[in-house]
Amino acid sequence: MPELPEVETIRRTLKERILYRPIQGIDVSYPKVLRNCDQGQLEKALLGRCFTRLDRRGKYLVCCLDSEYRLVIHLRMTGRLVVVPIDTAVEKHTSIRIHLQEDLDLRLVDQRKFATVDLLSGRDWGAIRGLESLGKEPLEGDFTPGYLAAQLAGRRAPVKSVLLDQRRVAGLGNIYVDESLHRAGIFPGKTAGELTEKEIERLHQSIQEVIKEGIAHRGTTFRDYVDGEGRQGGFQALLRVYGREGEPCTTCGEPIARIKLAGRSSFFCPRCQGK
Ligand SMILES: [Zn+2]
Repeated sequence: MPELPEVETIRRTLKERILYRPIQGIDVSYPKVLRNCDQGQLEKALLGRCFTRLDRRGKYLVCCLDSEYRLVIHLRMTGRLVVVPIDTAVEKHTSIRIHLQEDLDLRLVDQRKFATVDLLSGRDWGAIRGLESLGKEPLEGDFTPGYLAAQLAGRRAPVKSVLLDQRRVAGLGNIYVDESLHRAGIFPGKTAGELTEKEIERLHQSIQEVIKEGIAHRGTTFRDYVDGEGRQGGFQALLRVYGREGEPCTTCGEPIARIKLAGRSSFFCPRCQGK
C-alpha cells in the first residue's frame, strides 16, 4: 500500500501535469469509489473548475479546486493515479477518469477497489473519518521526540502497532515502520510503553531519515506502486529488512527474520534488534 513517501511522490509528479487545466468531463466506472457523493454531484462541483493545489496529509492526497471544494483521494491497497492522453486505452480496473483540458486524463486505476474519493467543501475535515484525527506529520517541526514519547507512553501494544496507528503518526505503513525500527535497533514486538528515552530519540531520528530517503528515491515499489508519470520507485533497492527474510542484515550479516504482529508480517534482524 502506498505510504507517505509514495503519496508524496505522486503529489509532486501529478502537480506538474494537472494543475490549472479546466475539468471538462468525468467518467465514473466504479460508482462505489465515490464515498460521499454521486457522479452528478461530482460533476456539479468539478466541471469547468480546475485544480489549483495538491496537498498531502498522511496517506491522503488533497486536490484543491478553484472553488470551495476539494477532492480527497486515498489509494489504500492497490490504487494508482496516472495522467495519460485522453485517447489512451482504458485499463481494466479503472475506477474514475477526470478529463482535463488539452486532452489529458487523470485516472484512478485500482485492482482491489479499496481506493476512495471524497468531495469536501471548505475545511470540513470532520466529514472524512480518519482525516481529522490524523497524528503529526513525521517531517513537520511539531513531530518531536517528546511528541513521539507521548504517543508511546503507557501503551501495552507492540511499538510497531502504535507506529502504524495513523492517529499517532501520520503516513507510516508496514514498510517504513519496519525500516525505522531496524535503524533504531528496536524489536518491532517490544511493548511501546517500555521504550527508553534513548530508544525513542533513535526511533524519532530513524523515522525522519527513512521517510526522507524514501521520498528522495521516489518511493518503494514492492508490488503495484507507480508515481504520477507511471514510473516505479527506487527505494526498494535500499530496504534493509522489509521483504528480506533469510537475507543477511546489511549491518551485521545475521539472516533477517519475519514474525506476524497483529496479523501483519514484520521483518527484523534478531541480532541488531535484540530478540
Ligand atoms: Zn543485524
